[in-house]
Amino acid sequence: MQGQGRNSANKKSKAERLLRKHNLKVTVPRLSVLSVISEKETATSQPDLEKILGKSVDRVTLYRVLNAFEEKGILHKIFDLHGTATYALCSDDCPEHIHSEEHVHFTCSKCNSVYCLDEVTLPAIKVPKGFQLDMVGINAVGVCAHCKSKIN
Ligand SMILES: [Zn+2]
Ligand SMILES: [Zn+2]
Ligand SMILES: [Zn+2]
Repeated sequence: MQGQGRNSANKKSKAERLLRKHNLKVTVPRLSVLSVISEKETATSQPDLEKILGKSVDRVTLYRVLNAFEEKGILHKIFDLHGTATYALCSDDCPEHIHSEEHVHFTCSKCNSVYCLDEVTLPAIKVPKGFQLDMVGINAVGVCAHCKSKIN
């Protein structure tokens, strides 16, 4: 992976920067997983990732990569309507181990896609004394724009 101009590998360098920022070694499986997830508008499940990546990343590696990314605050996990875990990129400054995403997850009841809605602000959540709040998530269910346009 040497001698490639920065311009020709823009996407790659963004993924690389993310890995370096979180002190993760830059490896091909990590780069592949990151580039697939960052290209998609919706959260991606592990089975989908397996399908897209094919034989280039084996299951165990994929599982480890996803876990490491979640722990480092690169990806956050959202469960879709079938209870399948899907993964989406974290907002810029997720600290390690605690996800600070405070956004609504919109799940489409037609195509089961999960969208991160960053533009919706959530109310501040007060927790009882002695409680520690790690993450706030609100799940909304409805029909996404893609499916809606097919119906109309
Ligand atoms: Zn996060
Ligand atoms: Zn949909
Ligand atoms: Zn999200």
